[in-house]
Amino acid sequence: MMTAENKLKWKEASVLLGAHFSIAKGIHNSLYEASNYGCTALQIFTKNANTWKERTLSQDEIDCFNQAREQTGITAIASHTSYLINLASYDPKKHIMSRNALTCELVRSSMLNIPFVVLHPGAHMGKGEAKGISRIASSINEIFAENTGRGTRLLLETTAGQGSGLGHAFGQLSSIMDQVKDVDRLGICLDTSHIFAAGYDIRNPASYHRTMDTFDSVIGIEKLYVIHLNDSKKELGARVDRHEHIGEGHIGISAFELFMNDPRFRDVPKIIETPKHKGDTDYDRVNLNRLRALVRL
Ligand SMILES: [Zn+2]
Repeated sequence: MMTAENKLKWKEASVLLGAHFSIAKGIHNSLYEASNYGCTALQIFTKNANTWKERTLSQDEIDCFNQAREQTGITAIASHTSYLINLASYDPKKHIMSRNALTCELVRSSMLNIPFVVLHPGAHMGKGEAKGISRIASSINEIFAENTGRGTRLLLETTAGQGSGLGHAFGQLSSIMDQVKDVDRLGICLDTSHIFAAGYDIRNPASYHRTMDTFDSVIGIEKLYVIHLNDSKKELGARVDRHEHIGEGHIGISAFELFMNDPRFRDVPKIIETPKHKGDTDYDRVNLNRLRALVRL
């Protein structure tokens, strides 16, 4: 017979659940930190996400990361790209910098054997949706043609649709994918808070299934490789991206129960990007435990 403790361990191990952790104490340390939180998945930035400055990896960093992966057993790892990247930019300098930054990210993540790189598709800055979409797709085609960083899959993230940001409608993401030649190197990262802010309801079983059926018919459920689980500080369709603790925002706990128990997403890593603290309380632990408690055996 299973003891209560073993039952809990089994329950946790069967779910790929993690959080975004810092690499400030070394890239490898993010894996040990994730492990301390009982995580089976991890997201990191492989460089400072708020600057253009690139980072080259030493062999020692790569070795330490590989060793940490073996020791922790965490292989479901995503790297999130810099927030400055805009592949839809028509400013020539910004566009070159964006392409270069994404190439560097794919190369770095490949060297670290990170299976997924998450990218916000880009913002058309007034040029219009169609132009933005084709600029993003052609940029990805150019980057893929360089044939570097092949070891990792580029995931386009669903966005909240702030300003002229693209990726808030499932159709925009499928249009980008349609125009990318090497589409096998692409996938989708779905963020609960972003799709909700973009107007896709997931608050109860009926709306959840409607939204995921739409996702399936427009993009294809098999294209979904990572899920970001965040509640939203903003209402449905607000088009504003503000993450809230699990179950404490406008989405509410029932959507998370549906995601955690959807058999289609059993092998899809689920990662929280919620605020790290609330007052003095470590809220990663609280949010992760809330999600674990939702898993039905
Ligand atoms: Zn996200």
